[in-house]
Amino acid sequence: MSKPFNAYAMAQGQFDKVADGLGLDQGTKDLLREPMREYHFSLPVRMDDGSTRIFRGFRVQHNDARGPAKGGIRFHPQETADTVRALSMWMTWKCAVANLPLGGGKGGVICEPHNLSMPEQERICRAYMRQIARDIGPLRDVPAPDVMTSGQHMLWMLDEYEQMRGGHYPGVITGKPVGMGGSLGRTEATGYGVVFAVREALKEMGVRPQDTIAAVQGFGNVAQSAIELYREIGGTVVAVSCWDQADQQPYCFRRKSGVDLAELRKVTDRFGGIARQKAVELGYEVLPGEAWIEQDVDILMPCALENSITGENVTRISARVKLIAEGANGPTTPDADHVLHERGVFVIPDFLANAGGVTCSYLEQVQSNMNYFWEKDEVLGKLDTMMTSAFIGVSETARKRRLSMRDAAYTIAIARVAQACRDRGWV
Ligand code: GLU
Repeated sequence: MSKPFNAYAMAQGQFDKVADGLGLDQGTKDLLREPMREYHFSLPVRMDDGSTRIFRGFRVQHNDARGPAKGGIRFHPQETADTVRALSMWMTWKCAVANLPLGGGKGGVICEPHNLSMPEQERICRAYMRQIARDIGPLRDVPAPDVMTSGQHMLWMLDEYEQMRGGHYPGVITGKPVGMGGSLGRTEATGYGVVFAVREALKEMGVRPQDTIAAVQGFGNVAQSAIELYREIGGTVVAVSCWDQADQQPYCFRRKSGVDLAELRKVTDRFGGIARQKAVELGYEVLPGEAWIEQDVDILMPCALENSITGENVTRISARVKLIAEGANGPTTPDADHVLHERGVFVIPDFLANAGGVTCSYLEQVQSNMNYFWEKDEVLGKLDTMMTSAFIGVSETARKRRLSMRDAAYTIAIARVAQACRDRGWV
């Protein structure tokens, strides 16, 4: 039987592989392969029926040598301390590879938002902030939205922080709603960033976007924005998959002429769940959830959760697939990654491909600090420039040192963080 998936073991394994190659000393390795600080807490929350439920929350600050820790807060029923640890580590590398003056952190609450009313979610957000307010802050650790959290959740957390402190602290959180300190383009930023990276990879491969078709796993915020921009640059998405809450399993929706984002959005709930019957009426075939991976396409974009492309299903990927852009964090397990490398598939690793979200968070911080907000085109233009230069940096390193894109991205990120730790005299 294969070992149960553990994202933290995977993140540490990826780190060890590159750290050894970089010749890091033992102290630096020991420092970087574990989070510097973590907080675990109980959240007592009054439910709508008058009862009290205790939720578990986490915030992990992996490393803040390059700047305040930065990273989202996820709401998920299967959240674990180890997953948050892994995600916080990936945030450190993500901010470093994008060359942002930020470190890495991540938070999570074990809860199932599908079964919680909005007032209950608001009380979870406020309880979370009451527990963590003393340990985060604009100059310490700055949360943001992530899986199943949105600008509204961030605003409730911001409000709780400001009520506690008695003042305005827009820098304590990013991904805020536009008009409440948020940046235009933040919602689209992660998905758009994935496609900026896809566009650059296709350029290197000498392939025109309009000659490609893709399958996407997930239909949440990242997937929807990626589909939107990929369409704009000429590509066609022929299949998307999403989680079906009622059946507790995923389904894949295929339409060979291409999915119509606007039309599908109309039959999708706020968690990215597509209504099956309505999709059938719109002309989509409904297939088992895993079908997204075996489509005869040029590009795969896993934009859901970790552990999606595994040793078991990697062999089902069509020989036609030449490019995989990881919109999710940690979607490909190391054994699957090895197979893809052997097959010569160009993989844009997660912490490069999905760095658009945190890059736009950084632009939100800059705007917040000036209290002057840019037009959407200006934000997206800066995002494009920053993502493109991160991509080119990684691909040049990959070429020069004959590394996979993942190892090249790790090499750049770890070297930058290790340097910051050395410069500060920590190691
Ligand atoms: N949650 C996003 C990520 O995983 C964005 C984090 C941020 O903006 O701080 O990269």
